[in-house]
Amino acid sequence: LLAGLDGLNVLENFVLGDTPEPHAIQALLHNIATTTHNNQWETQTYGLSQATNIRALPLKTLLVQLELHGAIQAKHSYYADIKLKWQSSPEHICQALPNEQQALFHALVRCTQFKKVWGEPDFTQLNQQGFNRDTVMRLLNQLADANQLVVETKKLTDVYRVEPDKLTTELATQLQHYCETNEQSELARIATMLRFFSLNRCLNYNLALYFGDKNAPEHCGHCSVCRGQVLRLPKSEDSINPSLLTEDLRESQFWLSQQSPDFPVTAALLARFAAGLNQPIFTRLKARKHAQFGKHENVPYSTLLACAQNVLTNPSH
Ligand SMILES: [Zn+2]
Repeated sequence: LLAGLDGLNVLENFVLGDTPEPHAIQALLHNIATTTHNNQWETQTYGLSQATNIRALPLKTLLVQLELHGAIQAKHSYYADIKLKWQSSPEHICQALPNEQQALFHALVRCTQFKKVWGEPDFTQLNQQGFNRDTVMRLLNQLADANQLVVETKKLTDVYRVEPDKLTTELATQLQHYCETNEQSELARIATMLRFFSLNRCLNYNLALYFGDKNAPEHCGHCSVCRGQVLRLPKSEDSINPSLLTEDLRESQFWLSQQSPDFPVTAALLARFAAGLNQPIFTRLKARKHAQFGKHENVPYSTLLACAQNVLTNPSH
């Protein structure tokens, strides 16, 4: 893994691209507060990720934190999109079903709208006829197991119980600190790991020392250091032209604010754009096609961020 990396930036960017921005955390709490009905909040990862510009994995982490703070509580999940297609005729399937499932099956046939091959069961209608979602899903899975129909499930929806009083600005600040601390410790971990691998002392001897074994041989003879290959991760700071970078960031800022007028173009967003880090909003804007996207992936993130802050605080005209 390490040998294939062309720089420390690449590793650091894994971490930095994932840290949610403060306004994104606020957007998340706002989203929860405004889409909660009767203390119940239903959400789908993809849509929430797009709405907040937080990537799926850190988003999951934040939701866990919200649970730990008692603001939300996971209840259950279900698929919002269910489609089915018959593998044998409904008449045939019906004949093979026990009597107690006949009424349910007839209701399913009545309440499913077919377009050519695939049909969509109307769960509201089925519920009105006394068959709840769980009961219908059990029958669908049973028939799918018997190869009598195919079920396609999409849009996994998570249902949470929400304590709206707990979705406060203080909580947003706490989550922000949590994310920043996380980022710092991840960066420190990378630094430690790299120090370890770029030492010119036998890696196995190093490991042995780390675990307190002082009797290990000083040269194992087969690790990369013993074979004369010390890892070098270059920092490519020398090749940066500050005025060119500023110009590029201005161009990116202009493009981003044109494409998405409602979305705040922050320094972090600009830096991530220049570094070519994936963000939900970049997917939506098809940012990869833009010549500036990832153009400065070899520049350390901290340099990009500082330059972006400068661009935003000193508009050109
Ligand atoms: Zn060795």
